[in-house]
Amino acid sequence: MVESWLEEIMKSYNQESYDSRNSYAAQLHMPGEIFQNLVWWALKSLPDEILVGLDIDFNKRQNPAVDEYFRSEQQVDGLFQGQGYLIDEAHIVNRGDSYSVHHLPEDWTDDIFAPSRGARAGRFTHWLHTHPNAPAIPSGADADASQETAGVDMILGLRFSPTGPLPWFDDVEGKRRILGKEAVPKQTPKAAKQFFRHNELPVVGIAPSGHVIHEVQLIAFHKTGLGVNVIFTDTDNLPYGWNSMLEKHG
Ligand SMILES: [Zn+2]
Repeated sequence: MVESWLEEIMKSYNQESYDSRNSYAAQLHMPGEIFQNLVWWALKSLPDEILVGLDIDFNKRQNPAVDEYFRSEQQVDGLFQGQGYLIDEAHIVNRGDSYSVHHLPEDWTDDIFAPSRGARAGRFTHWLHTHPNAPAIPSGADADASQETAGVDMILGLRFSPTGPLPWFDDVEGKRRILGKEAVPKQTPKAAKQFFRHNELPVVGIAPSGHVIHEVQLIAFHKTGLGVNVIFTDTDNLPYGWNSMLEKHG
């Protein structure tokens, strides 16, 4: 089960994915249940970033009606490995700072995952890493690491408190994709005397780790730099908010 607050922000993200579909070269369907795990894992692993390998099931296609609905005028078929297939597994494969998180000896991964990954004990198709208390915008190191990726790379950015040793870092240029609204601090009346500095940020949800989540961001991109549109899907492989989208747009 996906938390209702997460479902709400996945719905609004999907609506934005539809509205801006023509600015993407491809699409990727992300199961909401897997995405929820990614958010929980990211917060449990603080202050580290985590690197997650994602696998697809070559026997399961993304829902063709949804593919068609979100199709871009600029769609490139065959852009990446696993395009059009469903993501069905996610494993944390590394943790560390923004540089070390990407450094992953290939034989090490194979040994660790060989028993659970059977015949597919090789590299994962897609990769996702986290930006704790920073926007989901690729760094130079991220762009370099993506050159080895057969599928797509994703970055999950989270803004949360308590921040621990990681105050919100916002000095990054790039296109952001926020699930829900951007977390802008509320104005407090100047006259009010404050003994503690509260950041007064809007709260979108609470994680099992106890963290208060203010903002969730997700982007996906191909190693060429082309943007990949993400659509969050439910257990029926339909986008969250599908019915209201059909009512609105037909
Ligand atoms: Zn990064």
